[in-house]
Amino acid sequence: MNFAIPEDTRLLISSIRRFVEEELCPLEEQVEAKGNLAPDTAREILLKSRALGFYAMNMPEDVGGGGLTAVEMCLAALEMGRTSDILVRRAFGTVYELLLECRGTQREEWLLPAVRGERTCAIAMTEPGAGSDAAGITTTAKADGDGWILNGGKHFVSDGAFSDFFAVTARTGPEAAARGISVFLVDKAMPGVTVGRNQPMMGLRGGSHVELAFDDVRLGRKHLLGEPGRGLRIILGTIGRVRLFDIGARAVGTATLLLEMMTRHAKNRRQFGVPIGDFQMVQSQLADSAIDIASARLLCLEAAWDIDQGLDPREKVSMVKVCSAEALGRVADRAVQVFGGLGYCKDLPIERIYRDCRVMRIYDGTSEIHRVVVARGLLKGGAARVVPNGKSVAD
Ligand SMILES: Cc1cc2nc3c(=O)[nH]c(=O)nc-3n(C[C@H](O)[C@H](O)[C@H](O)COP(=O)(O)OP(=O)(O)OC[C@H]3O[C@@H](n4cnc5c(N)ncnc54)[C@H](O)[C@@H]3O)c2cc1C
Repeated sequence: MNFAIPEDTRLLISSIRRFVEEELCPLEEQVEAKGNLAPDTAREILLKSRALGFYAMNMPEDVGGGGLTAVEMCLAALEMGRTSDILVRRAFGTVYELLLECRGTQREEWLLPAVRGERTCAIAMTEPGAGSDAAGITTTAKADGDGWILNGGKHFVSDGAFSDFFAVTARTGPEAAARGISVFLVDKAMPGVTVGRNQPMMGLRGGSHVELAFDDVRLGRKHLLGEPGRGLRIILGTIGRVRLFDIGARAVGTATLLLEMMTRHAKNRRQFGVPIGDFQMVQSQLADSAIDIASARLLCLEAAWDIDQGLDPREKVSMVKVCSAEALGRVADRAVQVFGGLGYCKDLPIERIYRDCRVMRIYDGTSEIHRVVVARGLLKGGAARVVPNGKSVAD
Protein backbone atom coordinates (compact mmCIF):
# COMPACT_ATOMS: atom_id res chain seq x y z
CA MET A 1 0.00 0.00 0.00
CA ASN A 2 1.53 3.31 -1.07
CA PHE A 3 0.40 6.36 0.91
CA ALA A 4 2.71 8.82 -0.88
CA ILE A 5 1.00 11.75 -2.59
CA PRO A 6 2.47 12.39 -6.09
CA GLU A 7 4.17 15.75 -6.63
CA ASP A 8 1.63 17.08 -9.19
CA THR A 9 -1.22 16.28 -6.78
CA ARG A 10 0.65 18.06 -3.98
CA LEU A 11 0.97 21.15 -6.20
CA LEU A 12 -2.77 21.08 -6.99
CA ILE A 13 -3.65 20.68 -3.32
CA SER A 14 -1.39 23.52 -2.21
CA SER A 15 -2.87 25.85 -4.84
CA ILE A 16 -6.38 24.96 -3.64
CA ARG A 17 -5.25 25.65 -0.04
CA ARG A 18 -3.92 29.07 -1.15
CA PHE A 19 -7.14 29.90 -3.00
CA VAL A 20 -9.26 28.91 0.02
CA GLU A 21 -7.13 30.87 2.49
CA GLU A 22 -6.57 33.98 0.36
CA GLU A 23 -9.85 34.31 -1.55
CA LEU A 24 -12.56 32.52 0.44
CA CYS A 25 -11.74 32.66 4.18
CA PRO A 26 -11.67 36.50 4.20
CA LEU A 27 -15.32 36.46 3.04
CA GLU A 28 -16.57 34.29 5.93
CA GLU A 29 -17.20 37.21 8.30
CA GLN A 30 -19.14 39.12 5.66
CA VAL A 31 -21.42 36.10 5.06
CA GLU A 32 -21.99 35.63 8.79
CA ALA A 33 -22.73 39.31 9.37
CA LYS A 34 -25.01 39.87 6.36
CA GLY A 35 -26.52 36.39 6.12
CA ASN A 36 -25.67 36.16 2.44
CA LEU A 37 -22.90 36.37 -0.11
CA ALA A 38 -23.32 39.39 -2.38
CA PRO A 39 -24.11 38.22 -5.96
CA ASP A 40 -21.17 40.23 -7.37
CA THR A 41 -18.77 38.58 -4.92
CA ALA A 42 -20.22 35.15 -5.70
CA ARG A 43 -19.68 35.80 -9.41
CA GLU A 44 -16.13 37.01 -8.77
CA ILE A 45 -15.09 33.89 -6.85
CA LEU A 46 -16.72 31.64 -9.44
CA LEU A 47 -14.73 33.34 -12.23
CA LYS A 48 -11.47 33.13 -10.26
CA SER A 49 -12.05 29.48 -9.46
CA ARG A 50 -12.89 28.68 -13.09
CA ALA A 51 -9.79 30.49 -14.33
CA LEU A 52 -7.69 28.34 -11.98
CA GLY A 53 -9.43 25.14 -13.16
CA PHE A 54 -11.07 24.51 -9.77
CA TYR A 55 -14.72 24.49 -10.86
CA ALA A 56 -16.39 21.10 -11.37
CA MET A 57 -13.16 19.24 -10.66
CA ASN A 58 -15.18 16.08 -9.99
CA MET A 59 -16.57 15.89 -13.53
CA PRO A 60 -14.80 13.99 -16.34
CA GLU A 61 -12.55 15.93 -18.72
CA ASP A 62 -14.56 14.92 -21.80
CA VAL A 63 -17.49 17.03 -20.57
CA GLY A 64 -15.19 19.92 -19.56
CA GLY A 65 -14.63 19.01 -15.92
CA GLY A 66 -11.37 18.73 -14.00
CA GLY A 67 -11.23 14.94 -14.33
CA LEU A 68 -9.74 14.39 -10.88
CA THR A 69 -9.55 10.86 -9.56
CA ALA A 70 -11.61 10.11 -6.46
CA VAL A 71 -8.47 10.15 -4.29
CA GLU A 72 -7.48 13.55 -5.74
CA MET A 73 -11.03 14.82 -5.19
CA CYS A 74 -10.84 13.70 -1.57
CA LEU A 75 -7.55 15.50 -1.05
CA ALA A 76 -9.03 18.63 -2.67
CA ALA A 77 -12.14 18.43 -0.47
CA LEU A 78 -9.97 18.22 2.65
CA GLU A 79 -8.75 21.71 1.71
CA MET A 80 -12.26 22.97 0.92
CA GLY A 81 -13.26 22.00 4.46
CA ARG A 82 -11.13 24.89 5.71
CA THR A 83 -13.85 27.39 4.79
CA SER A 84 -17.62 27.64 5.03
CA ASP A 85 -20.22 25.67 3.06
CA ILE A 86 -21.63 28.55 1.04
CA LEU A 87 -18.19 29.70 -0.14
CA VAL A 88 -17.29 26.17 -1.24
CA ARG A 89 -20.58 25.85 -3.11
CA ARG A 90 -20.16 29.13 -4.96
CA ALA A 91 -16.45 28.73 -5.75
CA PHE A 92 -16.08 25.04 -6.55
CA GLY A 93 -19.63 24.20 -7.65
CA THR A 94 -21.89 21.33 -6.73
CA VAL A 95 -22.06 19.67 -10.11
CA TYR A 96 -23.93 16.49 -9.29
CA GLU A 97 -22.69 13.43 -11.12
CA LEU A 98 -26.24 12.24 -11.75
CA LEU A 99 -26.17 14.75 -14.64
CA LEU A 100 -23.79 12.36 -16.41
CA GLU A 101 -26.98 10.36 -17.12
CA CYS A 102 -27.97 13.12 -19.59
CA ARG A 103 -28.33 11.81 -23.14
CA GLY A 104 -28.61 13.50 -26.57
CA THR A 105 -29.90 17.08 -26.36
CA GLN A 106 -30.04 16.85 -22.55
CA ARG A 107 -26.25 17.18 -22.47
CA GLU A 108 -26.29 20.68 -24.02
CA GLU A 109 -29.35 21.76 -22.05
CA TRP A 110 -28.40 20.54 -18.56
CA LEU A 111 -25.02 18.82 -18.21
CA LEU A 112 -22.57 21.05 -20.09
CA PRO A 113 -23.87 24.43 -18.78
CA ALA A 114 -23.67 22.95 -15.25
CA VAL A 115 -20.04 21.92 -15.74
CA ARG A 116 -19.23 25.38 -17.16
CA GLY A 117 -20.80 27.01 -14.09
CA GLU A 118 -23.45 28.76 -16.18
CA ARG A 119 -26.43 26.90 -14.68
CA THR A 120 -26.69 25.16 -11.33
CA CYS A 121 -28.73 22.17 -10.25
CA ALA A 122 -30.21 21.29 -6.85
CA ILE A 123 -31.48 17.91 -5.69
CA ALA A 124 -35.13 17.79 -4.64
CA MET A 125 -35.95 14.43 -3.05
CA THR A 126 -37.07 15.15 0.51
CA GLU A 127 -40.72 15.92 1.24
CA PRO A 128 -42.41 16.88 4.49
CA GLY A 129 -43.75 13.30 4.70
CA ALA A 130 -40.71 11.48 3.28
CA GLY A 131 -37.15 12.05 4.50
CA SER A 132 -35.16 8.97 5.45
CA ASP A 133 -37.74 6.92 3.55
CA ALA A 134 -36.88 8.40 0.14
CA ALA A 135 -39.23 5.92 -1.55
CA GLY A 136 -42.20 7.17 0.50
CA ILE A 137 -42.72 10.31 -1.60
CA THR A 138 -46.14 11.48 -2.74
CA THR A 139 -45.03 13.82 -5.54
CA THR A 140 -46.37 12.29 -8.76
CA ALA A 141 -45.60 12.55 -12.47
CA LYS A 142 -48.63 11.13 -14.26
CA ALA A 143 -48.20 10.00 -17.87
CA ASP A 144 -49.94 12.38 -20.30
CA GLY A 145 -49.49 11.90 -24.07
CA ASP A 146 -45.76 11.55 -24.61
CA GLY A 147 -44.92 13.38 -21.37
CA TRP A 148 -45.92 13.70 -17.72
CA ILE A 149 -47.77 16.12 -15.44
CA LEU A 150 -45.87 16.81 -12.21
CA ASN A 151 -47.70 17.60 -8.95
CA GLY A 152 -46.52 17.74 -5.36
CA GLY A 153 -43.91 19.46 -3.25
CA LYS A 154 -40.45 19.17 -1.73
CA HIS A 155 -38.62 20.82 1.12
CA PHE A 156 -35.10 21.39 2.47
CA VAL A 157 -33.77 21.82 -1.08
CA SER A 158 -30.20 23.05 -0.60
CA ASP A 159 -29.19 25.90 -2.86
CA GLY A 160 -32.79 26.03 -4.11
CA ALA A 161 -32.89 29.82 -4.34
CA PHE A 162 -29.63 29.95 -6.33
CA SER A 163 -30.31 27.03 -8.65
CA ASP A 164 -31.58 27.20 -12.21
CA PHE A 165 -33.04 23.70 -12.30
CA PHE A 166 -33.85 20.82 -9.99
CA ALA A 167 -33.42 17.05 -10.13
CA VAL A 168 -36.84 16.05 -8.78
CA THR A 169 -37.92 12.57 -7.71
CA ALA A 170 -41.54 11.73 -8.51
CA ARG A 171 -43.69 8.64 -8.48
CA THR A 172 -44.40 7.58 -12.09
CA GLY A 173 -45.87 4.16 -11.49
CA PRO A 174 -47.82 2.14 -8.98
CA GLU A 175 -44.90 -0.28 -8.44
CA ALA A 176 -43.87 -0.84 -4.87
CA ALA A 177 -41.24 1.33 -3.19
CA ALA A 178 -38.30 2.51 -5.28
CA ARG A 179 -39.21 0.89 -8.61
CA GLY A 180 -42.06 3.32 -9.23
CA ILE A 181 -39.92 6.47 -8.90
CA SER A 182 -38.30 8.47 -11.72
CA VAL A 183 -36.11 11.55 -11.70
CA PHE A 184 -36.85 14.63 -13.81
CA LEU A 185 -34.84 17.76 -14.57
CA VAL A 186 -37.19 20.65 -13.97
CA ASP A 187 -36.40 24.27 -14.80
CA LYS A 188 -37.15 26.80 -12.09
CA ALA A 189 -38.83 29.06 -14.65
CA MET A 190 -41.32 26.44 -15.90
CA PRO A 191 -45.02 27.28 -15.46
CA GLY A 192 -46.34 25.63 -12.29
CA VAL A 193 -43.00 25.62 -10.42
CA THR A 194 -43.00 27.75 -7.25
CA VAL A 195 -39.94 28.32 -5.11
CA GLY A 196 -41.35 28.81 -1.64
CA ARG A 197 -40.06 29.78 1.76
CA ASN A 198 -36.36 29.80 2.57
CA GLN A 199 -36.37 27.50 5.61
CA PRO A 200 -34.31 29.08 8.39
CA MET A 201 -31.52 26.83 9.69
CA MET A 202 -29.38 26.61 12.84
CA GLY A 203 -26.25 27.25 10.77
CA LEU A 204 -25.08 27.35 7.15
CA ARG A 205 -25.60 31.12 6.96
CA GLY A 206 -25.71 32.45 3.44
CA GLY A 207 -27.12 29.20 2.08
CA SER A 208 -30.67 28.61 0.95
CA HIS A 209 -32.88 25.63 1.82
CA VAL A 210 -36.24 26.03 0.19
CA GLU A 211 -39.65 24.54 -0.21
CA LEU A 212 -40.75 23.77 -3.77
CA ALA A 213 -44.28 23.32 -5.10
CA PHE A 214 -45.21 21.71 -8.42
CA ASP A 215 -48.66 22.45 -9.74
CA ASP A 216 -49.51 20.71 -13.04
CA VAL A 217 -46.00 21.15 -14.42
CA ARG A 218 -45.95 19.76 -17.95
CA LEU A 219 -42.85 17.66 -18.59
CA GLY A 220 -41.63 16.15 -21.87
CA ARG A 221 -39.25 13.28 -22.68
CA LYS A 222 -36.29 15.65 -22.46
CA HIS A 223 -36.98 16.20 -18.76
CA LEU A 224 -36.71 12.52 -17.82
CA LEU A 225 -33.23 11.54 -16.60
CA GLY A 226 -32.42 7.93 -17.45
CA GLU A 227 -35.11 5.29 -17.66
CA PRO A 228 -38.53 5.63 -16.00
CA GLY A 229 -38.67 3.83 -12.66
CA ARG A 230 -34.90 4.08 -12.13
CA GLY A 231 -34.91 7.48 -10.41
CA LEU A 232 -33.81 6.40 -6.95
CA ARG A 233 -31.26 4.02 -8.40
CA ILE A 234 -29.73 6.88 -10.42
CA ILE A 235 -29.65 9.31 -7.50
CA LEU A 236 -28.45 6.85 -4.89
CA GLY A 237 -25.89 5.40 -7.32
CA THR A 238 -24.16 8.76 -7.80
CA ILE A 239 -24.76 10.54 -4.52
CA GLY A 240 -22.17 8.36 -2.75
CA ARG A 241 -19.41 10.47 -4.23
CA VAL A 242 -21.10 13.63 -2.91
CA ARG A 243 -21.21 12.04 0.54
CA LEU A 244 -17.58 11.05 0.31
CA PHE A 245 -16.21 14.41 -0.89
CA ASP A 246 -18.68 17.07 0.22
CA ILE A 247 -19.40 15.59 3.61
CA GLY A 248 -16.73 13.03 4.51
CA ALA A 249 -13.56 14.71 3.31
CA ARG A 250 -14.76 18.26 3.95
CA ALA A 251 -15.66 17.32 7.53
CA VAL A 252 -12.16 15.94 8.05
CA GLY A 253 -10.69 19.13 6.57
CA THR A 254 -12.71 21.28 8.96
CA ALA A 255 -11.73 19.10 11.93
CA THR A 256 -8.06 19.41 10.91
CA LEU A 257 -8.35 23.20 10.87
CA LEU A 258 -9.91 23.13 14.34
CA LEU A 259 -7.17 20.87 15.69
CA GLU A 260 -4.49 23.23 14.34
CA MET A 261 -6.24 26.13 16.10
CA MET A 262 -6.63 24.15 19.35
CA THR A 263 -2.99 23.10 19.34
CA ARG A 264 -1.75 26.66 18.79
CA HIS A 265 -4.07 27.93 21.52
CA ALA A 266 -2.94 25.20 23.94
CA LYS A 267 0.67 26.33 23.43
CA ASN A 268 0.01 30.07 23.70
CA ARG A 269 -2.76 30.44 26.28
CA ARG A 270 -1.31 30.53 29.78
CA GLN A 271 -3.26 29.89 32.99
CA PHE A 272 -1.85 29.18 36.44
CA GLY A 273 1.52 30.37 35.06
CA VAL A 274 1.83 27.68 32.37
CA PRO A 275 0.48 27.00 28.85
CA ILE A 276 -2.86 25.21 29.10
CA GLY A 277 -1.31 22.50 26.87
CA ASP A 278 0.63 21.39 29.97
CA PHE A 279 -2.62 20.16 31.54
CA GLN A 280 -3.32 16.53 30.79
CA MET A 281 -7.06 17.08 30.45
CA VAL A 282 -6.37 19.55 27.63
CA GLN A 283 -3.81 17.19 26.09
CA SER A 284 -6.32 14.38 26.04
CA GLN A 285 -8.76 16.57 24.04
CA LEU A 286 -6.03 17.28 21.50
CA ALA A 287 -5.00 13.61 21.30
CA ASP A 288 -8.58 12.33 20.93
CA SER A 289 -9.17 14.88 18.16
CA ALA A 290 -6.00 13.81 16.34
CA ILE A 291 -7.10 10.15 16.56
CA ASP A 292 -10.61 11.00 15.29
CA ILE A 293 -9.15 12.92 12.35
CA ALA A 294 -6.50 10.38 11.38
CA SER A 295 -8.98 7.49 11.31
CA ALA A 296 -11.69 9.40 9.41
CA ARG A 297 -9.11 10.67 6.90
CA LEU A 298 -7.82 7.18 6.17
CA LEU A 299 -11.33 5.81 5.73
CA CYS A 300 -12.20 8.62 3.28
CA LEU A 301 -9.08 7.97 1.22
CA GLU A 302 -9.62 4.22 1.24
CA ALA A 303 -13.20 4.58 -0.02
CA ALA A 304 -11.94 6.99 -2.71
CA TRP A 305 -9.22 4.54 -3.69
CA ASP A 306 -11.89 1.80 -4.04
CA ILE A 307 -13.80 4.05 -6.46
CA ASP A 308 -10.64 4.58 -8.50
CA GLN A 309 -10.25 0.78 -8.72
CA GLY A 310 -13.77 0.55 -10.17
CA LEU A 311 -15.23 -0.95 -7.00
CA ASP A 312 -18.55 0.08 -5.47
CA PRO A 313 -17.73 0.94 -1.84
CA ARG A 314 -21.33 1.71 -0.90
CA GLU A 315 -21.16 0.49 2.68
CA LYS A 316 -17.75 2.06 3.14
CA VAL A 317 -19.09 5.44 2.00
CA SER A 318 -21.81 5.04 4.63
CA MET A 319 -19.07 4.37 7.19
CA VAL A 320 -17.26 7.51 5.98
CA LYS A 321 -20.44 9.58 6.34
CA VAL A 322 -20.97 8.44 9.94
CA CYS A 323 -17.32 8.43 10.96
CA SER A 324 -16.40 11.87 9.53
CA ALA A 325 -19.58 13.70 10.51
CA GLU A 326 -19.46 12.37 14.07
CA ALA A 327 -15.69 12.93 14.35
CA LEU A 328 -16.13 16.57 13.34
CA GLY A 329 -18.95 16.94 15.87
CA ARG A 330 -16.66 15.72 18.66
CA VAL A 331 -13.71 17.82 17.52
CA ALA A 332 -15.85 20.98 17.25
CA ASP A 333 -17.18 20.39 20.76
CA ARG A 334 -13.65 19.97 22.12
CA ALA A 335 -12.50 23.08 20.24
CA VAL A 336 -15.17 25.18 22.01
CA GLN A 337 -13.98 23.70 25.33
CA VAL A 338 -10.25 24.21 24.77
CA PHE A 339 -10.85 27.83 23.73
CA GLY A 340 -13.11 28.43 26.74
CA GLY A 341 -15.18 31.63 26.46
CA LEU A 342 -13.44 32.50 23.19
CA GLY A 343 -14.70 29.23 21.72
CA TYR A 344 -18.28 30.36 22.38
CA CYS A 345 -17.66 33.91 21.15
CA LYS A 346 -18.40 34.97 17.56
CA ASP A 347 -14.96 36.61 17.26
CA LEU A 348 -13.61 33.21 16.18
CA PRO A 349 -15.06 30.85 13.53
CA ILE A 350 -15.30 27.99 16.04
CA GLU A 351 -18.87 28.68 17.17
CA ARG A 352 -19.98 28.91 13.51
CA ILE A 353 -18.36 25.57 12.73
CA TYR A 354 -20.00 24.08 15.85
CA ARG A 355 -23.42 25.12 14.50
CA ASP A 356 -22.70 24.34 10.85
CA CYS A 357 -21.37 20.84 11.40
CA ARG A 358 -24.39 19.55 13.31
CA VAL A 359 -26.33 18.97 10.11
CA MET A 360 -23.69 16.62 8.74
CA ARG A 361 -25.16 13.87 10.90
CA ILE A 362 -28.59 14.54 9.39
CA TYR A 363 -28.55 15.45 5.70
CA ASP A 364 -27.72 13.07 2.87
CA GLY A 365 -28.91 10.23 5.09
CA THR A 366 -28.85 10.41 8.87
CA SER A 367 -26.17 8.60 10.89
CA GLU A 368 -28.82 6.04 11.84
CA ILE A 369 -29.74 5.29 8.21
CA HIS A 370 -26.07 4.90 7.24
CA ARG A 371 -25.57 2.53 10.16
CA VAL A 372 -28.48 0.51 8.78
CA VAL A 373 -26.71 0.38 5.37
CA VAL A 374 -23.46 -0.82 6.98
CA ALA A 375 -25.23 -3.44 9.08
CA ARG A 376 -27.25 -4.73 6.10
CA GLY A 377 -24.05 -5.07 4.07
CA LEU A 378 -22.45 -7.06 6.86
CA LEU A 379 -25.44 -9.31 7.30
CA LYS A 380 -25.69 -9.95 3.55
CA GLY A 381 -22.03 -10.37 2.68
CA GLY A 382 -20.09 -10.93 5.89
CA ALA A 383 -16.82 -9.01 6.08
CA ALA A 384 -16.45 -9.17 2.30
CA ARG A 385 -17.42 -5.59 1.66
CA VAL A 386 -15.39 -4.05 4.45
CA VAL A 387 -11.94 -4.44 2.96
CA PRO A 388 -10.85 -2.64 -0.21
CA ASN A 389 -10.59 -5.46 -2.71
CA GLY A 390 -13.92 -7.00 -1.86
CA LYS A 391 -12.30 -9.98 -0.19
CA SER A 392 -12.46 -10.69 3.48
CA VAL A 393 -9.26 -10.38 5.47
CA ALA A 394 -9.28 -14.16 5.83
CA ASP A 395 -9.34 -14.59 2.02
C1 LIG B 1 -29.61 21.80 5.92
C2 LIG B 1 -30.29 20.70 5.18
C3 LIG B 1 -30.07 20.55 3.83
C4 LIG B 1 -30.73 19.54 3.11
N1 LIG B 1 -30.58 19.47 1.76
C5 LIG B 1 -31.34 18.61 1.05
C6 LIG B 1 -31.34 18.63 -0.39
O1 LIG B 1 -30.60 19.40 -1.02
N2 LIG B 1 -32.17 17.81 -1.06
C7 LIG B 1 -33.00 16.94 -0.42
O2 LIG B 1 -33.73 16.22 -1.09
N3 LIG B 1 -33.03 16.88 0.95
C8 LIG B 1 -32.23 17.71 1.68
N4 LIG B 1 -32.27 17.69 3.06
C9 LIG B 1 -33.11 16.71 3.73
C10 LIG B 1 -32.31 15.64 4.45
O3 LIG B 1 -31.69 14.77 3.55
C11 LIG B 1 -33.27 14.95 5.42
O4 LIG B 1 -33.53 15.89 6.46
C12 LIG B 1 -32.73 13.66 5.98
O5 LIG B 1 -32.66 12.67 4.99
C13 LIG B 1 -33.59 13.13 7.15
O6 LIG B 1 -34.94 13.13 6.83
P1 LIG B 1 -35.99 13.82 7.83
O7 LIG B 1 -35.48 15.17 8.15
O8 LIG B 1 -37.32 13.74 7.20
O9 LIG B 1 -35.92 12.97 9.15
P2 LIG B 1 -36.74 11.61 9.43
O10 LIG B 1 -36.58 10.68 8.28
O11 LIG B 1 -38.10 11.95 9.89
O12 LIG B 1 -35.92 11.02 10.66
C14 LIG B 1 -36.13 11.46 12.00
C15 LIG B 1 -35.28 10.58 12.93
O13 LIG B 1 -35.70 9.21 12.81
C16 LIG B 1 -34.56 8.41 12.49
N5 LIG B 1 -34.95 7.28 11.60
C17 LIG B 1 -35.74 7.33 10.51
N6 LIG B 1 -35.81 6.12 9.93
C18 LIG B 1 -35.04 5.29 10.67
C19 LIG B 1 -34.69 3.92 10.59
N7 LIG B 1 -35.12 3.13 9.60
N8 LIG B 1 -33.86 3.41 11.55
C20 LIG B 1 -33.39 4.19 12.54
N9 LIG B 1 -33.67 5.52 12.67
C21 LIG B 1 -34.48 6.05 11.74
C22 LIG B 1 -33.61 9.34 11.77
O14 LIG B 1 -32.27 8.84 11.80
C23 LIG B 1 -33.79 10.63 12.57
O15 LIG B 1 -33.01 10.57 13.72
C24 LIG B 1 -31.60 18.66 3.80
C25 LIG B 1 -31.79 18.80 5.18
C26 LIG B 1 -31.15 19.80 5.86
C27 LIG B 1 -31.41 19.96 7.33
